[in-house]
Amino acid sequence: MASPQWNHYAMQELEGVLRDRGLQCPHCGVVSQDMFKTDDNSAFQCPGCGQRFSPAEFFEAQRRPPKTGLSTLYRPVGSAELDLIRQAEYAAFPPRLDWQPIFYPVLTQDYADFIAREWNSKDPDHDFVGYVTRFQVRNEFLCNYEIQVAADRTMLEYWIPAEDLGEFNDNIVGVIQVVAEFRNGALAKPTG
Ligand SMILES: [Zn+2]
Repeated sequence: MASPQWNHYAMQELEGVLRDRGLQCPHCGVVSQDMFKTDDNSAFQCPGCGQRFSPAEFFEAQRRPPKTGLSTLYRPVGSAELDLIRQAEYAAFPPRLDWQPIFYPVLTQDYADFIAREWNSKDPDHDFVGYVTRFQVRNEFLCNYEIQVAADRTMLEYWIPAEDLGEFNDNIVGVIQVVAEFRNGALAKPTG
């Protein structure tokens, strides 16, 4: 149970998001800038379904994608992995190696660019090159996994166990595109 103090600060933060772009109701999914605050300032009430939600309920709902539609995901890869993706005609990611129990697709290109630029393209083991791939995955599959928050709140990723990667690949819709290339810590080809 969230403490009253946590709830107070979380309400302030969510009021900012509400003004900026609206909040999504965790009950009915409506996105609105017209969520009412309850009289005791501890929750919002949705104008769509009339139900209330606390900041804790809001954040919990944000941890999973909706059950339908597609999510756009990104994955930073090195040249070895990109070669295998090319061999698979840009339709699947290669199986994990024994020492790689988890597959980590990420939710934003900013985060993928960061990894490709700051880690892969500065790493001799990666020949100082990092690529960013973009692809779409069915939410029907993704909603079985919680969205994980890495170092900060903008660094969102899924942790897909290696044994689920085949099923993950089956749920990729369309092709895996390469949208950026970094060399020696800098962008070598524009993002697109
Ligand atoms: Zn609602």
